[in-house]
Amino acid sequence: MFIMKQIVFFFAIAITFLIQTTHAQDPGYVLVIHGGAGNITPERITPEKQGLYEQKLKEALAAGEKILASGGTAMDAVIAAVQLLEECPLFNAGKGAVFNADGKNELDASVMDGKTLKAGAVAGVMTIKSPVAAARRVMDSSAHVMMAGRGAEEFARVQGLEIVDPAYFYTEESWKEYLKVKAKIENQGRKGTVGAVALDEQGNLAAATSTGGMSYKKYGRIGDSPVIGAGTYANNESCAVSCTGHGEFFIRNSVAFDVSARMLYLGETVEQASGFIINEKLRSQGATGGLIALDKDGNIAMPFNTSGMFRGYVKKGEKPQVYVFR
Ligand code: ASP
Repeated sequence: MFIMKQIVFFFAIAITFLIQTTHAQDPGYVLVIHGGAGNITPERITPEKQGLYEQKLKEALAAGEKILASGGTAMDAVIAAVQLLEECPLFNAGKGAVFNADGKNELDASVMDGKTLKAGAVAGVMTIKSPVAAARRVMDSSAHVMMAGRGAEEFARVQGLEIVDPAYFYTEESWKEYLKVKAKIENQGRKGTVGAVALDEQGNLAAATSTGGMSYKKYGRIGDSPVIGAGTYANNESCAVSCTGHGEFFIRNSVAFDVSARMLYLGETVEQASGFIINEKLRSQGATGGLIALDKDGNIAMPFNTSGMFRGYVKKGEKPQVYVFR
């Protein structure tokens, strides 16, 4: 009897120890978001406007965290966070997106699931209310990875996604900016692409990015945001990444994939890999932008080589943090 008690006691201790150690290694959930990198300085943005941006970033974090906290997936969380930012006119995605040179909104978005390496993207769409939702449908409900223009819009319609008149994306602020760029009063367009990366309690990573692209881009131009490996990438073995910046450079450098590759092939940390790419590699090419990256252990990197980047994160049990400037 005494031996029996000792055995039970020993097992109880062993199980408690096991639970504690697993718990200590478990990073819980993490969500990181961005609302674009660019020439964002205290001189160019009033404290009131800064407050509005911070408020929206917090709302996006809350939308994604709600899902993660109730055991939801990283994919659902990044979609929820990005959709909230797509609906907000402050950012260059969905409503309020920048105009192309023809005065039209052409939207790009993509998603990637780090567990399955499945991905979906839409490019150059003009009537899909939530491009990131359409990207997810391409991943989940088609045999393809990327669909563009009218075909993507038709696919989204058949999928039952909300289709809007192109006028839905119009905001006066974006239009005024378009007129300024057109008149060459200002040649650095606003950059407010949005993106999110998340790690869920099951240990899965996901990434999503949505954008109106570069201000005054040529009709038909597609940037890095819908290109898997350039603007978006996720792999449970390494990290999840969402980029923002001068898309042509991000495509040429396969930036999002390169973060993962450097981690896997060189053994770099997520901070080292993304810091090198943004602050050394891209900077040396004269390319501006930034990215958010999250590894499978919950480590975060948010480097940018511009004056500011709207960004923030929340970790399980911690207060959400949002930042605008350096
Ligand atoms: N990367 C986006 C593009 O080139 C723009 C941005 O992030 O501001 O389309």
